[in-house]
Amino acid sequence: MNLILLGPPGAGKGTQAKRLQAAYGIAQISTGDMLRAEVASGSAIGREAKAIMESGALVPDAMITAMLAARIEAPDCARGFILDGFPRTLAQAEALDRMLAEKGRRLDHVIELRVDDAALVERISGRFTCAACGEGYHDSFKRPKVEGVCDVCGGTEFVRRADDRAETVAARLEAYHRQTAPLLPYYRAQGRLVSVDGMAAMDEVTRQIEAALAR
Ligand code: ADP
Ligand code: ADP
Ligand code: ZN
Repeated sequence: MNLILLGPPGAGKGTQAKRLQAAYGIAQISTGDMLRAEVASGSAIGREAKAIMESGALVPDAMITAMLAARIEAPDCARGFILDGFPRTLAQAEALDRMLAEKGRRLDHVIELRVDDAALVERISGRFTCAACGEGYHDSFKRPKVEGVCDVCGGTEFVRRADDRAETVAARLEAYHRQTAPLLPYYRAQGRLVSVDGMAAMDEVTRQIEAALAR
């Protein structure tokens, strides 16, 4: 099964993608996580991407499309994948369609998480993750069960993203509305789009996605 999770920054794509990965045994591919790993390693791609990401803009289509093409060849994608954060432009969506067609694969569903801009700002500004395992948390909506200790791995170090500050969030939302929202009619026209209420609690969103996938 090959899925796309589509939605603005902070909509819950990463949260839901991790749950679907566990439930369906398919790979979660977060292009944001891949880029952050390139930045951390100081690679050529990372050096080019760093300032762009910190400004809240999108990195060039050619860069991200090449990364994604290599990633979906990995063995863990053999049973399928969940794309979290890709495609983000029409050019990326068209490149993905071509890539899949060449391999004789196809997209099964595109799931849109709908969340109001005001709620997104609150979600992004409260977001943090475990430095050891990457589990996602939120200051108000998902605190670790034991303060300061990761529920999953017991880690005690947490990190906040450099681009999750208020000034950058507005630019990221603008990029979403201008460059990524046009993908909604694109996938609706292909008959693949399912929209779920991303404002609901995390478990309810998971339930709605699983119901959509079972149809
Ligand atoms: P969020 O989870 O908040 O939606 P991501 O972690 O997916 O954010 O992305 C962080 C940043 O990485 C983006 O603001 C953008 O600069 C870059 N990025 C990630 N994926 C893409 C993509 N498919 N195309 C262009 N830029 C991307
Ligand atoms: P995205 O990958 O779309 O940028 P995340 O999955 O990282 O979004 O979620 C953004 C923040 O909001 C995280 O701190 C996460 O714990 C929290 N969050 C995710 N889904 C929900 C939800 N349904 N209700 C409340 N908070 C949520
Ligand atoms: Zn952890």
